[in-house]
Amino acid sequence: MHAEMDVIRFARSGDVLEVMRFRKCDNQLAMAKPCKYCMQHIQSAGIKKVAYTDEDGVWREIDLV
Ligand SMILES: [Zn+2]
Repeated sequence: MHAEMDVIRFARSGDVLEVMRFRKCDNQLAMAKPCKYCMQHIQSAGIKKVAYTDEDGVWREIDLV
């Protein structure tokens, strides 16, 4: 089970989901964009926005309507 699917069990409609991922080798931030399967679950859970870190450790956002 992916972490996103685990956590959205506790999500309420209109929540913002933040996803961070760390590389095991050096503990730096890594790409944490949810995969397309998680995105489907995130969307049907009523999440309004997903924020995730990219490979440079920069926060990105996806607005879901
Ligand atoms: Zn996933």
